Amino acid sequence: MVRIDDVIDTFLRRRPGADFSAIQRAYVFSAKQHEGQLRKSGEPYMVHPLEVARIIAEMGLDEASICGALLHDTIEDTATSKDEVTAMFGQEVAALVDGVTKLSGVNFTHKEQRQAESFRKLVVAMSEDIRVLLIKLGDRLHNMRTLEHMKPEARERIAQETREIYAPLADRLGIAWLKADLDDLAFMYLEPEAFEELQRSVDKTTKERKAYIQRTIDELQRFLKENGLDVKVTGRLKNFYSIHKKMRTKNIAYEDVHDAIAFRVVCDSLRDCYATLGFVHSRWVPVPGRFKDYVAMPKPNRYQSVHTTVVGKDGERIEIQIRTQEMHDVAEAGIAAHWGYKEGGGGNKNAADGFAWLRDLVEAQSESTDSQDFLESVKVDLFRDEVFVFTPEGEVKALRRGSSPLDFAFAVHTQVGSHCVGARVNGVQVPLRTELRNGDQIEIMTSKTQRPSPDWLEIAVTSRARNKIRAYLRQEQRKQARQAGGDLLEKALRKFGCSFPKMLKRGELEKLAGEMRFSNADDLIVAVGYGKVDLTDLINQLLPEDKRARPPAELKETPIERVMRKVKGSDDGIVLDGLDNLLVRFARCCNPLPGEDVVGFVSRGRGVVIHRRSCARAEALDPERRTKVQWSRQAVSQRPVKLRVTTGDRVGMLAAITNVFIKHDISIDSAHCQAEGHQRGVNVFTFMVRDLTQLNELVRGLKNTKDVVDVERVHY
Ligand code: MN
Repeated sequence: MVRIDDVIDTFLRRRPGADFSAIQRAYVFSAKQHEGQLRKSGEPYMVHPLEVARIIAEMGLDEASICGALLHDTIEDTATSKDEVTAMFGQEVAALVDGVTKLSGVNFTHKEQRQAESFRKLVVAMSEDIRVLLIKLGDRLHNMRTLEHMKPEARERIAQETREIYAPLADRLGIAWLKADLDDLAFMYLEPEAFEELQRSVDKTTKERKAYIQRTIDELQRFLKENGLDVKVTGRLKNFYSIHKKMRTKNIAYEDVHDAIAFRVVCDSLRDCYATLGFVHSRWVPVPGRFKDYVAMPKPNRYQSVHTTVVGKDGERIEIQIRTQEMHDVAEAGIAAHWGYKEGGGGNKNAADGFAWLRDLVEAQSESTDSQDFLESVKVDLFRDEVFVFTPEGEVKALRRGSSPLDFAFAVHTQVGSHCVGARVNGVQVPLRTELRNGDQIEIMTSKTQRPSPDWLEIAVTSRARNKIRAYLRQEQRKQARQAGGDLLEKALRKFGCSFPKMLKRGELEKLAGEMRFSNADDLIVAVGYGKVDLTDLINQLLPEDKRARPPAELKETPIERVMRKVKGSDDGIVLDGLDNLLVRFARCCNPLPGEDVVGFVSRGRGVVIHRRSCARAEALDPERRTKVQWSRQAVSQRPVKLRVTTGDRVGMLAAITNVFIKHDISIDSAHCQAEGHQRGVNVFTFMVRDLTQLNELVRGLKNTKDVVDVERVHY
């Protein structure tokens, strides 16, 4: 049975002279907490944390990681709290234990197989410190080694999960031995017959294989030594699952797998690697297409080696991997090699170090042509852009970071999104504005009568949800404009004894629409509805000639036409002087200021409404209605603005703020000040400004004022 001394010995072998007092304390604490508990095998429970700790020590990880491994099941399986672990072992260890505990809540069941990739991402995303993931992998390896004690159903589920989730993760992290072990153990439980058959074939040939491997090693070593290269040559059978996969894809027997044995030449220097390659190729004939230079082009997981396959003297194929010692360590230990290369000791091993290494990896990836997208899967520091959440059925959805329940609802189905009235996150009802976090389980409440509203564009962040909401709103507006346009035309034509439906049916409107460069009659009617077309003109065109002479008195030009006529001569659209023109209004939702990027929308009977270009509500408006607007060179008006200023709650705070306003020559029209918990004051000021520049200067001045926490523009 493994003892704590074995763990410490392993730890010190990789990190000579390192402090291990915390490891001893973690052992004593964990053993006490797990006291009396047994594993399914009947052994004392403590065997498990000790074995996991030994695996972690073998990876060369630091003291905090070993402590984390020893304590990894205490929060979940014993009465221990995170606070206790923090108090005894510090934040770093507690965060590792907590991370592993959270990960164990992620379960992968059979029906979700096709989501393996999402689950891998989820697992990675949830372990915000890469060491959490390594401890989890160590935990999984020991559980796989002791899987025989589980019930058959559990065995299969765990083995499947190992194959789909954890072995690929080990691969992405570049830990070759771990991937091979996990794959082989999963193979043994998932395909026992195939496993045993392969085992028999391998056993039957053990003697010859050993002799062959030794012969080849001797020959390679001697030959390279004659040429002045001092190298270490090893040879071994590849892992079972990789041989099995080869047999299956090529549909061949074990005896016909030529590259079941990998020979490895470890050199002193990079130059020796290429020299070795040269000599090997001069002595044996290389197999075309089998030479790969992963030194010049590392794999995404930073694996480096030169691979070649040559034909031996008996016609057998020999696969040789050539690398330096450092490349070898990285190939075996992957990301864990990073900790191995850092000098031991030192409790300052913060997560950022690991991330820097990952960033290198990602950079290597961007130059690599390998389609296995490392970046996709190991977004440790890089998963800022995605969040992984569950449906009530346990299905995973990947959403943009910052997503709300509304985004989730649209990700499930457009109908669910469109009729969404509320959401429960992890069983608790929350506002639609809530930001989702990794691992949240979300339930959407719907109502048949609910419809997308313009407010939703201020909540939704995913393009899917935004597009659906926008499309719905625009379609609704268009429907209304179509209705209004039809009504207008019908009423006007009736005055002349003409029937609008008949004209429509006879295609007269369609023809006119074509002449006016609308794509069809409907678009023309919609334009009438929006007030973009001169109705008098239109009616005149439509009427038979004898009726045309008398323009109807009731049909005046539309407001928008009046606006357009007023600014005639300007090709740049409406020029906003903001004062005398009653037909131009500023949208209350975004309250644009002179200097801001704006856009106008025509509306029949209401002239032109000016929005900020970035206004979420403007996005919901039919682009058909859009009209160009710009601020006049000298804006003569003042525009009202509301600012919310959050401050510390101290004496003289308000006076300090008021002073800033005075300094910027702005008088406050109204102020609402109130204290808010945690010694915060929230003050809302209403005042007039000339333009954006003046406002920006004021805001900067406020932000630079002592104890001002936040300054935010408020819209109506
Ligand atoms: Mn465990």
